[in-house]
Amino acid sequence: GAPAAGAYLEGLNPEQRDAVVSVEGPLLVLAGAGTGKTRVLTCRLAHILNNGMAYPSQILSVTFTNKAAREMRHRVSELLGQTTEGLPWLGTFHSIAAKILRIHAELVGLKSNFTILDTDDQIRLLKQIIKAENIDDKKWTARYMASLIDAWKNKGLTPGKCDPSEKYKFAEGKGLIIYKTYQDRLKVLNAADFGDLLLHNLTIFQNNPDVLARYHAKFRYILVDEYQDTNVCQYLWLRLLAQGSNNVCVVGDDDQSIYGWRGAEVDNILRFESDFPGAKVIRLERNYRSTEHILAAASGLISSNKDRLGKTLWTEDDGGHKVSVTGVWDAPAEARIISTDIENWYSKGRKYSDVAILVRASRQMRSFEERFIQIGLPYKVIGGPRFFERQEIRDAHAYMRLLVNDTDDLAFERVVNTPKRGIGATSIQKLQRAARSMGVSLETATRELTKTDEIRGKARSSLRAFCLDLDRWRAMQGTMRHTNLAEQILDESGYTQMWRDNKDAKSAGRLENLKELIQAMNEFDTLPAYLEHISLVMDVDKSNGVEEDQVSLMTLHSAKGLEFPLVFLPGWEEGMFPSQKSMDESGMAGLEEERRLAYVGITRAREQAKIYFAANRQVYGSWQSSLPSRFIDELPPAHVEAASESGLHDSGAVAERVASSFARSFEENKSGPVSPGWQRFQQNKTKSFGRAPKDIEGHAVRRPAKGKSSNYNKGDRVFHQKFGYGLVTETDGTKLTVAFEKAGEKKVLDGFVERA
Ligand code: ATP
Ligand code: MG
Repeated sequence: GAPAAGAYLEGLNPEQRDAVVSVEGPLLVLAGAGTGKTRVLTCRLAHILNNGMAYPSQILSVTFTNKAAREMRHRVSELLGQTTEGLPWLGTFHSIAAKILRIHAELVGLKSNFTILDTDDQIRLLKQIIKAENIDDKKWTARYMASLIDAWKNKGLTPGKCDPSEKYKFAEGKGLIIYKTYQDRLKVLNAADFGDLLLHNLTIFQNNPDVLARYHAKFRYILVDEYQDTNVCQYLWLRLLAQGSNNVCVVGDDDQSIYGWRGAEVDNILRFESDFPGAKVIRLERNYRSTEHILAAASGLISSNKDRLGKTLWTEDDGGHKVSVTGVWDAPAEARIISTDIENWYSKGRKYSDVAILVRASRQMRSFEERFIQIGLPYKVIGGPRFFERQEIRDAHAYMRLLVNDTDDLAFERVVNTPKRGIGATSIQKLQRAARSMGVSLETATRELTKTDEIRGKARSSLRAFCLDLDRWRAMQGTMRHTNLAEQILDESGYTQMWRDNKDAKSAGRLENLKELIQAMNEFDTLPAYLEHISLVMDVDKSNGVEEDQVSLMTLHSAKGLEFPLVFLPGWEEGMFPSQKSMDESGMAGLEEERRLAYVGITRAREQAKIYFAANRQVYGSWQSSLPSRFIDELPPAHVEAASESGLHDSGAVAERVASSFARSFEENKSGPVSPGWQRFQQNKTKSFGRAPKDIEGHAVRRPAKGKSSNYNKGDRVFHQKFGYGLVTETDGTKLTVAFEKAGEKKVLDGFVERA
């Protein structure tokens, strides 16, 4: 039966209840993990609806992921005992901004059917612009320019607002010109990138007070989860909208700010009281999620951070399991041990879906996936390298994008000669030149040019045929279901045949993926609705939202806000976690952000948190010996136990216990290769772990194994993060000489390249 009105208030503690019912005026709930912040937001939403203080369409609620939005929608209807198919303004910053932008697109020179570009398209477009500007594209790569532009957008800076002084003179002084040209091109393409969604909203609100006033009148209540991870642009957007009713409630935790690398500013949360005068601040201290050991371990770890507000957390759930730390031989051993643990859990009558494996880097997932497939353990990957980023899926999407938006030149470029239709690079360049000079889309230019003799022979007939195909498919749009149309397009274009003819081992998988794509489309009523969903959804998994009993595999970043009874935390090694990159790039701030990430990881666990480190890890193709993460040392010993495959070792100091467990793990893996790192570890194992060696700036030093020969040979093609692609011309131990395509000849360590 339906719960009594107001039943959602029952069971809340006094502070939570206060936060739920204080709906007028600005409110900040600043509290640690698992204290019920998200629950407070959900109940607040239910409270507002239940008391008729606003219609569903008058509440703006921002969550961090689409999944969180779905969950909140579901919870609210549960609390109210009725379905709330309403709540049209519950979603992520991006999805809400996209919706607003579709309504007012013309105010920023777009049409409402604009395409949302992904990174791939973005890079392609930037490449063209950098070339056209005659800039050294080795030094100023498209990827680098894309990150600069993103950073500007995250700060709310349009080209017109960027400070043209020193700071923005990137790319031979042409940084701003590139940014401006890029924005102009996007307009011509009737496209927006991710950063544009909010930025265009800002422009619209700032230049059109009447439009802003409409939203002021509309949104009577504003609610924001995970406020500590908002960037400047999101913050400005919120502040503009909140000026209307002033009823803005944000919840967050400074210790869980983990998106600094993407422009998030934890200061936003610290500044809330001064931004919204008269704001009420509520702190929650009781944690309802985790056991005492888990909470104490996480709190002890985060206390090593200097830059934090500090807060008290307690739980009534005393005792429980200590956090375990296990040393293993390598990644396959890690996957094996964890999967055995999961099977044990399951055989005790618990569910697979109780379990999450949280990794620092998505490349760690592969060994788990391989193991799970091998033993048939059901799992799903959340976030990470996604289904929708695969080549065949992108190609198929490009066909569909072009269908609904004939000015989408990037889509046109992607498919015009895929499959091969005999349209070469020269023809495409001609088309591009013509499009530029006529100021029209590539498709229009193609239609014009193929009437002339500029393009001849096979290219001309193919291009004409391609345009006729497009006409025919577009005409069919209204006459059949979009999934059937999509299948027909993939067939008639020769695209599926292309993969059938391809003898590569992966082709069969690609054809399966295309089938799965049609499946995914089937959940939507129209092609535009599907495409909109795709460009926004960050956390789609292959299960298509079907609830199944599966282990979740994801990055720590995408685990934010979630909870699981059993959490595995593999890969706690120096260089892996904390990640070398974040320490190199951001020093102490980077390290503190890594530590917050570790805090997020441990606090996802309700009953058990299990940490692992491997003595050997393959980094971009070569083996490296590794040292346990400094975070392991920072865990309070009283709440930690050392374990190995053969059981627990629960006396003495943490480091010593872990070391002895590690020794056992070695005994159990004797057959494996012996690395120098392992030998060193054996010699030192009775001492404390100590820390990884550091350079003068306090960064851990990466140590390639000495005297080892490289895994690469002369002639291998490799990829290097900084220098790009190149061929190995000489090897000397683990030192490689590589002729990079763009960066020229360089000496690099083989641990820093991967096979390409
Ligand atoms: P995070 O910082 O990780 O996002 P949070 O502060 O948002 O955590 P919630 O996810 O809202 O915390 O709550 C954590 C868990 O505690 C949930 O399972 C929630 O249902 C439960 N919980 C919260 N408040 C109460 C309460 N008053 N009584 C019982 N359980 C509660
Ligand atoms: Mg939460």
